[in-house]
Amino acid sequence: MQIYELKINKNTCTGCNACVVSCPINFNELRKQSFLNENNAVILVKNGIAVPIYSDEREVNCDGCGVCVKMCPQVAIRIENVESV
Ligand code: SF4
Ligand code: SF4
Repeated sequence: MQIYELKINKNTCTGCNACVVSCPINFNELRKQSFLNENNAVILVKNGIAVPIYSDEREVNCDGCGVCVKMCPQVAIRIENVESV
């Protein structure tokens, strides 16, 4: 069940990767597997724009910590709470 959904402003995102490298979940996955891809990352830059990635199939998804929001120089990320638990 998805709880947090990231909205990326495609008009202002520059694809700088700051969100990707600052995300603690991405960091943990990178430490475990030495790479980030669509299977383990919760946010990636694709075609020059940040893309949030969610999957019910895996144990870890975005926890809404907000680090990426703070680190984005373009203020291009917004977090929506899509489910209440
Ligand atoms: S930090 Fe902001 S501008 Fe940079 S890739 Fe992420 S969303 Fe885009
Ligand atoms: S809110 Fe936190 S867990 Fe979700 S993508 Fe941003 S930095 Fe990663």
